[in-house]
Amino acid sequence: MPLMTHTELTQEESTLQAEAREFAQKRLAHGALDRDLAGTFSCELYEEAAEAGFIGVKIPESLGGRGLGLFDECLVMEELAGGDPSFALTISISAGLCGGHLLHHGSDAQKNSHIPHLTKGKIGAWAITERIAGSHAAALECEAKQHGDAYIINGAKMFVTQGMGFDSLVIFARTLAGKDGISAFLIEKGDRGCRSVPLAQTLGMRSAGTAEIFFQNCETPVERLIGEEGDGLRQAMQVLNDGRVVLSAMCVGIAQASLEAAASHAKKREAFGKPVSDFGGLRGMMADSAIDIATSREMVVAAARIRDAGGDNREEVALAKLFASEACLRVCDRGIQIHGGYGYIAETPAGMFWRDARVFTLGEGTSEVHRNLVCRHLFDS
Ligand SMILES: Cc1cc2nc3c(=O)[nH]c(=O)nc-3n(C[C@H](O)[C@H](O)[C@H](O)COP(=O)(O)OP(=O)(O)OC[C@H]3O[C@@H](n4cnc5c(N)ncnc54)[C@H](O)[C@@H]3O)c2cc1C
Repeated sequence: MPLMTHTELTQEESTLQAEAREFAQKRLAHGALDRDLAGTFSCELYEEAAEAGFIGVKIPESLGGRGLGLFDECLVMEELAGGDPSFALTISISAGLCGGHLLHHGSDAQKNSHIPHLTKGKIGAWAITERIAGSHAAALECEAKQHGDAYIINGAKMFVTQGMGFDSLVIFARTLAGKDGISAFLIEKGDRGCRSVPLAQTLGMRSAGTAEIFFQNCETPVERLIGEEGDGLRQAMQVLNDGRVVLSAMCVGIAQASLEAAASHAKKREAFGKPVSDFGGLRGMMADSAIDIATSREMVVAAARIRDAGGDNREEVALAKLFASEACLRVCDRGIQIHGGYGYIAETPAGMFWRDARVFTLGEGTSEVHRNLVCRHLFDS
């Protein structure tokens, strides 16, 4: 049983959460550490998750999703992340950022030819970051020049989750100078002039196939421009707003799994003739972790519910992403401490949770960028 969970769920929400928890515990958790250590991703498990309806929870049913809301997606992603963080990260990028981008900004042809594949278990990726431009995305240099009925893309994208195994990829490239000169394009597996190189030995998320992608005279038909030329950055920010809520929900799931593993170890492990869970120092750490998790979860719920009700949740999203990512890291760090030396070796998942959690104060906007966003809301309101 989880130590804490959501309150006030409807019957449908409870059922969805229970289904996702069962899948996470029975199908994901068992092999997650092995996949992490080997740096492998299981396409079979991914297809199984698709079959079970966990990929594209808020994508319309007509495109193969469940047609539910952001809150429902968060319920599912919290559970899956607790089972295997890399696996959940892949779903959040594939269905969330890539699928979500096409859903909100793509043409009917782009939606119909790609999204149903993504919800059936094909992999999507989404690439804005470059070596030269991470937080400052508007400075990106990858360029797309139109020649007749195609764009010729040159440049490179850094840190692309599932950059090795994607079937569909949304990228951002410059069609004009300035921040209004960035456009989004759809790249397909096997496109000539597009080459992925794995980023060996990432600290965490080792099963998520992080790669650098190079474009050398990559010819992309004009029909693969997403939306209008120059609208790329606005599209990216809109897509990231939902992405950050899902990512925060994943932080809750990882933190919860880390705390449960730590509590279970502490009850079994004895020192000085009693379980280490009896020691006040450890009890204090576990109580602090429980508070971190409960607070993060409430912030995720607030951000998701406002979005589902059609409201502007940008401030709540910034608060949730900032708090949940840092709280997750604190909880996972305490998890290692509670495990003692066993938290530091590959035998227990405590280290995997900590390494995986480490990315969340960086990805989809660093903590520092989010502090700026929070202050912008504070001073501009
Ligand atoms: C495992 C992994 C997976 C990723 N997956 C993807 C993906 O699928 N697609 C994708 O596009 N990207 C992805 N990223 C990239 C990620 O989003 C970037 O790493 C992140 O946006 C930060 O950019 P940067 O690494 O260039 O750091 P920089 O922008 O160079 O930042 C360096 C430091 O400066 C600080 N800083 C920068 N600007 C400011 C500011 N204005 N105020 C205060 N501090 C500031 C930062 O907070 C940070 O501490 C991934 C990264 C990792 C590690």
